[in-house]
Amino acid sequence: MHKHFIGGEWVAGHSASPNTNPSDLSEVVGEYAQADAALTRQAIAAANGARAIWARSTAQDRADVLERIGIEILSRREELGTLLAREEGKTLPEAVGEVVRAGSIFKFFAAEAMRVPGELAPPMRRGVEVAVTREPVGTVGIITPWNFPMAIPAWKTAPALAFGNTVVLKPADLVPGSAWALAEIISRSGLPAGAFNLVMGRGSVVGQALLEDARVDAISFTGSEQTGRGIAITAAQRLAKLQMEMGGKNPLVVLDDANLEVAVETTLQGTFYQTGQRCTASSRIIVERGIYARFRDALAQRTRELRVGHALHPSSQIGPVASAAQLQQNLDYVRLGCEEGAHLVHGGERIRASTEGYYMTPTLFADCDNGMRICREEIFGPVATLVPARDYEEALALANDTRFGLSAGICTTSLARAMDFRQRAEAGMVMVNCPTAGVDYHVPFGGRKGSSYGPREQGRHAVEFYTTVKTAYIAA
Ligand code: NAD
Repeated sequence: MHKHFIGGEWVAGHSASPNTNPSDLSEVVGEYAQADAALTRQAIAAANGARAIWARSTAQDRADVLERIGIEILSRREELGTLLAREEGKTLPEAVGEVVRAGSIFKFFAAEAMRVPGELAPPMRRGVEVAVTREPVGTVGIITPWNFPMAIPAWKTAPALAFGNTVVLKPADLVPGSAWALAEIISRSGLPAGAFNLVMGRGSVVGQALLEDARVDAISFTGSEQTGRGIAITAAQRLAKLQMEMGGKNPLVVLDDANLEVAVETTLQGTFYQTGQRCTASSRIIVERGIYARFRDALAQRTRELRVGHALHPSSQIGPVASAAQLQQNLDYVRLGCEEGAHLVHGGERIRASTEGYYMTPTLFADCDNGMRICREEIFGPVATLVPARDYEEALALANDTRFGLSAGICTTSLARAMDFRQRAEAGMVMVNCPTAGVDYHVPFGGRKGSSYGPREQGRHAVEFYTTVKTAYIAA
């Protein structure tokens, strides 16, 4: 059984839960301990106990620890990628890519530990110096979703530690294996006992205990908008610092002047890869009338050719859906789309592969209206909706007509349209002739409206959330 990591020790939980491979339901990836609220509070106490020592560590100490973690992750990319693919279901190349990203993030923040910004403000009074410095926030509770089981724990844990905070990580209960492997690497990195803790278990138990405990100074959450709303209320009641990344209903606009091949490939990549289980996936493809029929037919053809299969099989392009509940949700949305009058061009069915798993065909709906529920609610599966638009202005209005605002893309050969879209798209990230999904770790990640709350993650902007500013007046 894989245990929790608390106060520098491996600790058994009050129960354990099996982690099943969505590509092959007969395979158990491992047994993982489950914590209750009392054990979570033990981890919070351990993190609090290590605060002073880690906050006083030197930039070199922190950089060395993070560098070691990053190097080990990168050197074990195939093995860790295989574990990730087995527990979450993304294909092996996608999973290895995610592991590489996690390792690179630790190396990036190893360097950032050396670059904590500060300033000396010009004096307003003679003989008085004004210094603005950044300090750790304290103990950070990290709550992560199942779709990036290693990269998201990495992109929250690395900056937290780099800037001198201590951590209690609660990964998604569906995929504890990658987070456990990350914790095991961190456990040998030279961190003081208690500076990093892993507690596995249910959101309503472990997550809730983290949210309610006044010793947790800050909460970084990634997950659904619905869970996020509840978290925001609980965190606000005790004035905890909060950062949240949530869902998306990302538009990709295809204009008449687009390169057809680029538009089709960009759509396929952004919509169906990683089984559509990305918060940045393009799910509303808004297409100008002049190119609509040609684009729909070319996209349908390429969608039919996608090979769905076991995540570890070399020929698979699209892995299974991650869980039975997610598969059922996807199929329910397909049924709803048909009832709402969208035209089902391809897919929408559960299928069999060489092993029994949660496989479904990539699904393409055409002739959708942006008011349909399949165009308004996050499906979080391999389902694309094509929405026709009269012209660019209507396409832009449709793109912005959503309660989310994470990523927005456009395929066009017009520099003027691309520039206009970049300025007027109501999203945190804009892509021109690039998929809406697939962003780098050295730049900020996040959105607007119902997609994000609080400061940005990743890149140099991560310092905003994981530090607190102090202004000091010093007279000799
Ligand atoms: P979820 O909201 O169901 O769960 C996310 C995490 O919150 C899990 O660890 C869960 O155990 C925990 N949780 C659940 N209830 C809780 C509670 N009451 N208190 C504290 N914690 C609780 O989301 P999910 O199904 O794991 O992930 C899919 C969602 O995540 C999608 O909406 C997707 O768009 C979003 N997501 C967003 C980003 C982003 O950066 N914007 C990235 C990846 C995924």
